[in-house]
Amino acid sequence: MKKPAGNLNKMAYDKNNIFAKILRGEVPCKKVHETEFAFAFHDIAPDAPVHVLVIPKGEYASFDDFSQNASPEFMKGFFVSVQEVAKMLGLVENGYRIISNHGSDASQTVHHFHVHILGGKNLGRLLG
Ligand code: 5GP
Repeated sequence: MKKPAGNLNKMAYDKNNIFAKILRGEVPCKKVHETEFAFAFHDIAPDAPVHVLVIPKGEYASFDDFSQNASPEFMKGFFVSVQEVAKMLGLVENGYRIISNHGSDASQTVHHFHVHILGGKNLGRLLG
């Protein structure tokens, strides 16, 4: 499928954001998994017994940017990688939550698209 020309929703991407540095190996992390499409590592300030971040190997500022600008093949590869990570972490049987924050109302703090995988206990309702 042809990409629409002049996508107005393309957000500015800062190559020096902390996740870009982790992806380039410039900042250490506790790596969990890596595929052609994605890189996964433990969150530095976990909000659940298991809290892992999965980021695409590409310059996408948020889910909104990713969904508008990544190819269907890349999107599929990325989300398959997210499921692989959840499986590797042993979360599939009891369940897990995935969250992705876009923009200020969602309190996105790192502007490289990422999916939080949370689990390891009963997480209750969505917003507590
Ligand atoms: P956001 O608020 O953008 O959805 O999530 C950003 C997440 O990145 C937060 O949960 C935060 O704890 C995590 N984080 C921020 N800086 C670092 C870092 O240097 N290393 C790791 N592993 N996680 C980080």
